[in-house]
Amino acid sequence: HKYVYDFTEGNKDLKDLLGGKGANLAEMTNLGLPVPPGFTITTEACQAYLATGREPDGLAGQIEAHLESLERAMGKRLGDPRDPLLVSVRSGAKFSMPGMMETVLNVGLNDQSVVGLSAQAGGNDRFAWDSYRRLIQMFGKTVCEVPGEEFEHALDDVKRAKGTHNDLDLDADDLRGLVDAYKKIFLKHTGREFPQQPREQLDLAIRAVFESWNAERAVLYRRQERIPADLGTAVNVVTMVFGNLGPDSGTGVAFTRDPASGAQGIYGDYLANAQGEDVVAGIRNTVPLQQLEQLDKTSYDQLLSFMARLEEHYRDLCDIEFTIERGKLWMLQTRVGKRTAAAAFVIAGQLVDEGLIDLDEALHRVNGAQLAQLMFPRFQLDHEFQPVAKGIGASPGAASGKVVFTSARAVELAAEGESVILVRRETNPDDLTGMIAAKGILTSRGGKTSHAAVVARGMGKTCVSGADEIDVNVPAKRFTVAGQTVSEGDVVSIDGTTGKVYLGEVPVMPSEVVQYFEGSLDPEHIDNALVRAVHRIMTHADGKRRLAVRTNADTGADAARARRFGAEGIGLCRTEHMFLGDRRELVERLILARAEGEREAALAALLPLQRADFEEIFREMDGLPVTVRLIDPPLHEFLPPLEQLAVNVAVAQERGEDVAKEEALLAAVRRMHEENPMLGLRGVRLGLVIPGLFAMQVRAIAEAAVTCARAGGTAKPEIMVPLVGAVQELETVRAEAEKIIAEVVGDSGVEVLIGTMIEVPRAALTAGQIAEAAEFFSFGTNDLTQMAWGFSRDDVEGAFFWRYLELGIFGISPFESIDRDGVGRLVRIAAEEGRAARPGLKLGICGEHGGDPDSVHFFHEVGLDYVSCSPFRVPVARLEAGRAVV
Ligand code: PEP
Ligand code: MG
Repeated sequence: HKYVYDFTEGNKDLKDLLGGKGANLAEMTNLGLPVPPGFTITTEACQAYLATGREPDGLAGQIEAHLESLERAMGKRLGDPRDPLLVSVRSGAKFSMPGMMETVLNVGLNDQSVVGLSAQAGGNDRFAWDSYRRLIQMFGKTVCEVPGEEFEHALDDVKRAKGTHNDLDLDADDLRGLVDAYKKIFLKHTGREFPQQPREQLDLAIRAVFESWNAERAVLYRRQERIPADLGTAVNVVTMVFGNLGPDSGTGVAFTRDPASGAQGIYGDYLANAQGEDVVAGIRNTVPLQQLEQLDKTSYDQLLSFMARLEEHYRDLCDIEFTIERGKLWMLQTRVGKRTAAAAFVIAGQLVDEGLIDLDEALHRVNGAQLAQLMFPRFQLDHEFQPVAKGIGASPGAASGKVVFTSARAVELAAEGESVILVRRETNPDDLTGMIAAKGILTSRGGKTSHAAVVARGMGKTCVSGADEIDVNVPAKRFTVAGQTVSEGDVVSIDGTTGKVYLGEVPVMPSEVVQYFEGSLDPEHIDNALVRAVHRIMTHADGKRRLAVRTNADTGADAARARRFGAEGIGLCRTEHMFLGDRRELVERLILARAEGEREAALAALLPLQRADFEEIFREMDGLPVTVRLIDPPLHEFLPPLEQLAVNVAVAQERGEDVAKEEALLAAVRRMHEENPMLGLRGVRLGLVIPGLFAMQVRAIAEAAVTCARAGGTAKPEIMVPLVGAVQELETVRAEAEKIIAEVVGDSGVEVLIGTMIEVPRAALTAGQIAEAAEFFSFGTNDLTQMAWGFSRDDVEGAFFWRYLELGIFGISPFESIDRDGVGRLVRIAAEEGRAARPGLKLGICGEHGGDPDSVHFFHEVGLDYVSCSPFRVPVARLEAGRAVV
């Protein structure tokens, strides 16, 4: 079995096997770019190691063979005392997991080869000893779990003794002493000397990288990003090149376009005389990449030409890590870069303009989650708010919240429902839980490529990094800025687009993308790259999609907004929402009525109110179908709460008041009380039990439609019966409704369809029968999920879903994204059997899943005619319905 691939043997499509980093190193090698030679140990080797706890047979021999050929190619041997080959050992999974797993640099250094390294570096003792101490530090921490602070403290001690804060002030003797101190720390914690055998160093480092796949923070990150847990990581063994050999060396990170806005140009950070990890960790402040042009024009020009080459080759934004070793440029990594939601749209549009991709591909490269993010509001700034600091807009959005300084405190306050902003000098992978809990992240150090920036962008969380006017004091739980002190619990606002930081809570305003959807920004006439890109891609999605998109709306205002957002009708108008407020009392009277007269009076009072509701909605949706659902919710929502009523009656009796009426009410409420209202008297059952209720609604719908038609409009009502489980229920309602409709509609030309929701499993399983009495089905996937799983939709998510997610029973709540195997199967069966019984049966979905990207793809696959979702989700559903086709 082949476990090891030379960089010349792989390519970018082998990410499953070689991980993202390995596959792209191979790709760059084969493009002829200067990549330090090396090889990749496959994810399969890692999977085997994690399954059995030992390296698979044959791995050691293959590593040996590849190492030998690497040594031949370089003309050096690993750890040779006179001229050592040194390697880095780097993790690299299929999906990028920034900073989550381990890397060890300078493998091959020991007490002898450090001398050889110095000689080869032109007698640069300082460099050699600095490299050696870095190896012991990384190896100790990563491979042998020596607490990292111990090394930090020892380094601080040496700096203090020297009277400096800067690593660069330490000379060779200082670093030689530091190596001794590090070795003692290593011995103290591991009970053994620091290993001097280069090959043993290499093997242990490889094993540590395998094991880092299951490090706690990596597990947490995978869960958050929904990366499967069984992929394993590849391990890259790469010849070391050094960015810390002096001022003509350095290291940097670059993007071929701005990953925040998508703007064309060269973006990146550069740090002279430093090793790679220093940039990513945000430990020292970098300079903008453009300054490299003054420092080393040859390398800069070369880098630009490589970047252009990579972008053309990958046909996408690439990010790059590079090192310059004494004037020679080396490419250490590339990948298709992460980007903000705005940049995703803008870049996709630009690449179409540049002829690199077509519009189908552009549609493929954006998604509904990104579009949803762009619909978030932004800060509304007037002169009252002056920024107190400006950092780098690392991940866009507007976030206000209480300041916290530790991950633990962020988690605590967020659990209490507070919005918090996590403030750190820089973040590291241990801050992940706090970053997840926080509304936003603010750091005083680090660039666009620091840990905080990369991780926040990945999560879609607002982040400002490198706000260096801010002086953070974590132990004292405060920071100072512009002469002011901000303590834990004080409110700040951060703008992840501009990088500005404000004290207090800044009000917010709607996004430009929402303004565009609202029709108040004309994409043809404004100079806004994002709005133009969104417009172009949405137009393409609309042209491609087969699914129609409707909205769930119960008011004229919602209907109007959804229509501006592109809704092609209403898929669910929940009429019970029209019975709240003042009208509740009428409904109460209706439900409790004992005599026919009382009931009729209540219905007569409700009829005109309902008719007016529908008229307004039909007007807003003129010409488009409107599905009105007959009243559904459990009875108790319309009755006074039992306990409170009982107390009131008892108190009134005590006072000797006349309580005959209240007692009657109490008795009625007792009679109707249900232990399990969601499975009780609701939906069609209510319609069958309370005479005249559905009839009144049907009449109101039909009369409103006729009024609209007489006024020159076109109302297209579709009456929907909820919670049907048996065709007989539907037939009963239908017979009564048809009579009323015939009587009201007359020769007005109005057509009214009658259909049902499919939200009880029995309805899905007898869809063939039900279709005989239904002109359409609309899947109520909220109830269908509730009843298929037996999960109370109102209780379980907070109660125990966390455990289910933790155990991987499902990766996401089935109320959020459709459970394809179970609930989805019911949908499939009902769609097939319904259509078999009635060709042309109209099929839609109106549960929350209608606005969920993955679910939209599923509904496309099973052949529904439309999805219906809340107004704000309509653009997301349009986009995803288009993406489902390309
Ligand atoms: C459903 O059950 O999916 C549905 C849309 O109805 P409601 O959410 O009102 O129960
Ligand atoms: Mg329902």
